[in-house]
Amino acid sequence: MVDMASPQDSSLTRIHPTLSQVLGAMESLWPLSLQAGWDASGVVAGRPEQLIQRIHWAVDPVQAVADEAVSYGADLLITHHPLFLKPVTSIAATTFKGKVVHTLVENSCALITAHTNADSAVGGVSDVLAEILGLEDIVPLAPADGSAEEGIGRVGTLQHALRLEDFAARVYSAMPAVAGGVRVAGDSNGIVSKVAITGGAGDSLFDAVREHEADVYITADLRHHPASEAREQAMLSGDRPYLIDVSHFASEWLWLPTGAKALERALADEGYTVTTAVSALNTDPWDFILTSGDDTKTITSETE
Ligand SMILES: [Zn+2]
Repeated sequence: MVDMASPQDSSLTRIHPTLSQVLGAMESLWPLSLQAGWDASGVVAGRPEQLIQRIHWAVDPVQAVADEAVSYGADLLITHHPLFLKPVTSIAATTFKGKVVHTLVENSCALITAHTNADSAVGGVSDVLAEILGLEDIVPLAPADGSAEEGIGRVGTLQHALRLEDFAARVYSAMPAVAGGVRVAGDSNGIVSKVAITGGAGDSLFDAVREHEADVYITADLRHHPASEAREQAMLSGDRPYLIDVSHFASEWLWLPTGAKALERALADEGYTVTTAVSALNTDPWDFILTSGDDTKTITSETE
């Protein structure tokens, strides 16, 4: 039985950080100054003085994730994606975002998001991706102002050049399984050595990819026109960069275990203990896919 006034209780007060101390540790790892002007990372819900014992990590602040955090007994949910990017006039629980807020607040679970600041920082989303894929000599694809290490995306080199198909297989096996798999544009036998990567949607960075003369570009949410135009442009000069289109969710999920460990270490350095867990939920919105196998290039038209 725990006596609420016992010394044991006050020792808990000493070893667990407050929400504001967690926020301070996050700031040292993923400074808000690195976030894009349109972004809204930071505290979405929570009291600064709240003690944080359990932290739950996920990519998306969706209802299933909020429910999971609560069932895990988390005091804090940290997600990569913001819950709110646009102003709202209501958080009524009849709206899906309002319901997420109610679920968390009613169960004393705070919410912090680390979005483009975590994309840009050293040890952030694209850095982790680059390391998992075995890249070396990693530099930012689009450096933050005045920084040689921070910025959106990364470019690096494979220790041993690979066929595009083999490299795509490496990408595929590194990612959590999702319905959409991995799509590739380019010659499966083409050799790739220099790799550009942007976790999440990176189709605005083709100019930087070309400037770095990357052999292949990995990103998510590649739409028809940017992808088609990038391939047409590539064919004018050596067919590079090839493209690998991955799941937005999967490309960013890979950061979570590393981010969780980094925060745990930063808090431990200040004498605080937290327990962390990474969500195992797949929050990629797509559930299944139909493909035509190897016949994707074949279009038949029947006339009478
Ligand atoms: Zn994202």
